[in-house]
Amino acid sequence: MQMPLSFAADQRFPEVLNRLKAAWPPREEQHADPLSQLVFMLVSADTPSAIALAAYRRLRSRYHGWPAVRDEAPEVLLRVLRGIDKAVEKAVTLPRLLQEIEDRHGLLELEFLAGWTTQAAREWLEALPGVDAMISTATLNFSTLRKTVLALDPEGARVVRRFGFVAPAAPMSALDRQIMDKIPASWQAKEMSSLYSGIHKLAGTYCHKGRPKCAKCPLNDLCPTSKKASAAILQFPSKSQKAVAATSD
Ligand code: SF4
Repeated sequence: MQMPLSFAADQRFPEVLNRLKAAWPPREEQHADPLSQLVFMLVSADTPSAIALAAYRRLRSRYHGWPAVRDEAPEVLLRVLRGIDKAVEKAVTLPRLLQEIEDRHGLLELEFLAGWTTQAAREWLEALPGVDAMISTATLNFSTLRKTVLALDPEGARVVRRFGFVAPAAPMSALDRQIMDKIPASWQAKEMSSLYSGIHKLAGTYCHKGRPKCAKCPLNDLCPTSKKASAAILQFPSKSQKAVAATSD
């Protein structure tokens, strides 16, 4: 059966998703409430998953509810968040973030965003301390809000750039919107989180920051970068020039 496509859809998307799911079958999804997801994304930003998860679990077990974290002193939070990237900054930001949600919304929760458009919800979240596009989109897609939006960090951005899903020079802040213009019209939150998961497996397994392993990649016949000579994919550094992967960020 033909998949309905949006006006400007990239027709590779359904096949890309099918192959990613075949290579790395998605796990059963569990969705946190949006405030918990937001806090987790802030804690885990730029931090290896295992370290981030351990810090988040310490946070949850030490405090009974987010109001207690809001009222905590940053120097105490810093001990709980030890090991994560930018721990000092995040220990200051986290209580401010929670306080500002309560100040702006009147309650310390984010369920109200369910009735908002994705764009409006993104703008509201991205005006909060410490919340960037990756944190807002992941909160909207991975949580119980289940918004149809793709979360992209630099690893995922590298893949979608090499794949030609976005303009080569597009800034990080524009990537998810360029992707959303091209996905099939029938796709919803589940497809977006499966795409995110598959893209990150691909980035870690084949589509490395340096020279990608295109010969083994399950998407190589669909990817324009795989057709380039290896010299065009990886430029070796000279004395006066740092290594630059022609197709990387
Ligand atoms: S074919 Fe190569 S460049 Fe394209 S997505 Fe796969 S590993 Fe990355």
